[in-house]
Formats: sequence, C-alpha cells, structure tokens
Amino acid sequence: MGESGSLPKEERQLQIVGAPFFDDNTGGGNRCLKKCPKCNTYYNWRFTYELLIPTSENEITLTRLDDNEGERRAAKAFATIQAAEERFLDRAKPHIKALLARKKAFAIYSAADYLSTGRLRGFSVTFALEDAVRALNWLYKHAPDSSAVNTIHVLLHDVPTDDPSTARKVLHLLQETTKRHKATQHLVDSWQQEFQKR
Ligand SMILES: [Zn+2]
Repeated sequence: MGESGSLPKEERQLQIVGAPFFDDNTGGGNRCLKKCPKCNTYYNWRFTYELLIPTSENEITLTRLDDNEGERRAAKAFATIQAAEERFLDRAKPHIKALLARKKAFAIYSAADYLSTGRLRGFSVTFALEDAVRALNWLYKHAPDSSAVNTIHVLLHDVPTDDPSTARKVLHLLQETTKRHKATQHLVDSWQQEFQKR
C-alpha cells in the first residue's frame, strides 16, 4: 500500500467519486478518484495489474491529493460521465424506436439489453420504461417464448428514483399487465414494496 500523507483509519469508508460509472474493481488495471465523506479529502486510487507478472506485482496504491488537484480530478470525472451519458442517449435512439415500433422481438431484446447496460453505468433509463412495459405486452401476445421477455423483466426490475411520477405511471402499466399475465406479478410486488419504503 503506497501512500503519501495520512490515510483514514477506515480506507473502506472512502467513497468512489462518480460511482457506479467509476469503480474500484480489480478484475484488471483500474483507477478512480476516492473521497473521504468526513473530511472531503481526495485520494487517487490505482490498481496495477500485470497479467504476465506474478500476483505479488499487482498492487493497490492510494495517494492523497491536495484539495485543488482533488477538485480538478472530480470535475474531470463528472465531465467524463456527462460525455458518456450523452453518447449513451444518442446511441439509444434506434433502440427507443424499436421499443415504440414493437415489431421484432430481437430488436426489443437488443433495446432492453442496451438500456440495462447503461443503467449499470449509472445512466437514467426511466424515460424508456413505459415503452418497455408496452413492449412486454406486445411480446406476451406475439413472441411469448422470446428471450426478450426475460430481458425486459430485468430492465423493469429496479425501480427508478430519479423521476417518481414516471415511476408511478410505469407501476400502473405493470399492474394492468399483471391482470392478463401473472408472470409480471413479482415486478408489481417489488415496485410496491419499494414505494412503501419511501
Ligand atoms: Zn477523512
């Protein structure tokens, strides 16, 4: 563990700036910016990974940054995320069209998969969820054995927090769907539980 300056006693309490877009996974070489939630000190976190060198060469370094450098790196991280989200939304356009068109199960599968992947990176996909439920209804009618059914279920599993009024509309559509297709009941249940918690 390399360091400069004093490290917090609980390194684990450090928060990743720009998570989940940035992470501290150690499946390969990686770096991110971390921040102490108590004193706002920034740290550069780095994992060096050499496939050809024994594991002892793989190491995590945590370097304390001065405030200016930390703020500069944080601004850069958020600009990177913003640019990535703009690219994500731009490339989402044909997928959104496919959800609206509801003509091909595979196109719906691709759309749901694309949107789920974006959500894992931290991008909001709430805007597409009403159309996702409509696409699910289409699938139940026209392609019930398609793997798109499962992919849409995965997309609809997590309740969005960024837009509660849209989330309520999606829940309503899911409740309507459940009247005809019991397989969707578990989504309704988990959404209702989530709403009750809030
Ligand atoms: Zn601290």
